[in-house]
Amino acid sequence: REKKRKEGVNLLEMSASFFRERLKMPEGQGAREYLERRGLSLEVQRTFGIGYAPGQWDALKQHLGGQGVAEGLQVEYGLLVQHEDSGRTYDRFRDRVVFPIRDIRGRTLGFGGRVLGDAKPKYLNSPETPVFHKGRELYGLYEARQANHRLERLLIVEGYMDVVALAQFGIVNAVATLGTATTEDHLQRLFRLVGEVVFCFDGDKAGRQAAARALETVLPQMIDGRQARFLFLPEGEDPDTLVRKEGAKAFEDRITCASPLSEFLFDQAAQGRDLARVEDRERYASQVLAAIERLPQGVLKSLMLTELSRRTGVDESRFEALMASHQRQPE
Ligand code: ATP
Ligand code: MN
Ligand code: MN
Ligand code: MN
Repeated sequence: REKKRKEGVNLLEMSASFFRERLKMPEGQGAREYLERRGLSLEVQRTFGIGYAPGQWDALKQHLGGQGVAEGLQVEYGLLVQHEDSGRTYDRFRDRVVFPIRDIRGRTLGFGGRVLGDAKPKYLNSPETPVFHKGRELYGLYEARQANHRLERLLIVEGYMDVVALAQFGIVNAVATLGTATTEDHLQRLFRLVGEVVFCFDGDKAGRQAAARALETVLPQMIDGRQARFLFLPEGEDPDTLVRKEGAKAFEDRITCASPLSEFLFDQAAQGRDLARVEDRERYASQVLAAIERLPQGVLKSLMLTELSRRTGVDESRFEALMASHQRQPE
């Protein structure tokens, strides 16, 4: 099994260099123009190892086959798709800009591919393979560590382009989840490296929903000494568009001003409620209390409870009694 894994990782590396080479060739012209239109310098393209998957059905398959790589292995590592009925195989990534997804040691584990135009799906990722698990890997983490081994804070954004655009503007500590929600596993990995994470999702409905889910996921991870903050972007913007519009300094100022978890939590619970009304205050308090209950024991938890009590005028001991009763009879 170990041997096969090694073969797989090797195969992914061969594919990454194949894509990079193709980007430089005449057939890569459309992709080069696309990257230029998106404002990506050659330097940042090189740092992230960006490449191009040609339009044919079998460009990579031919290339790897010629190097003696078994077709089954190419399927297993997500490079070829096998048609269910006919059993025929063909390249998964065709006519796309390709972003290698690397682990923390720089080994390529999978790819994300973007269409050059408006075709769907806009992005395509490697499937789950023996080495690639999208609930675990974070795009840009290797590159962020290369840029700075003493990271204090990491920014979590939604997309490949966000990571790369920020890096080009000198903000080299962004990572992206791979088209999935932020998982517990992601957060554990990040907090092993840094004390602070800043969530920075798109200024759209999907982004706000992602922030709400991220809050839920990060609560149990908030042991004392860790920090989580939330940065909300103006409607219609994502980190890529915003940093290009405003520049690095303004974007960094936004990071500095991002809401701490406590603030986001209280604000979110207050949203759409009229706290002059008892019923609305009840929902507000219940929602915040439910979140506080998910925090690990510690100073933050105590302080949040004190704050909830201050904001609602309900004695802290009442909330404590409620929490204790929830623990006896979990819903
Ligand atoms: P771009 O700037 O290139 O248009 P984006 O990153 O702004 O891309 P969003 O629509 O904001 O694209 O989506 C955020 C992220 O979600 C993407 O970077 C990608 O990882 C993932 N994603 C988006 N659409 C798809 C899709 N159809 N399939 C899989 N993942 C997707
Ligand atoms: Mn979006
Ligand atoms: Mn974008
Ligand atoms: Mn976006």
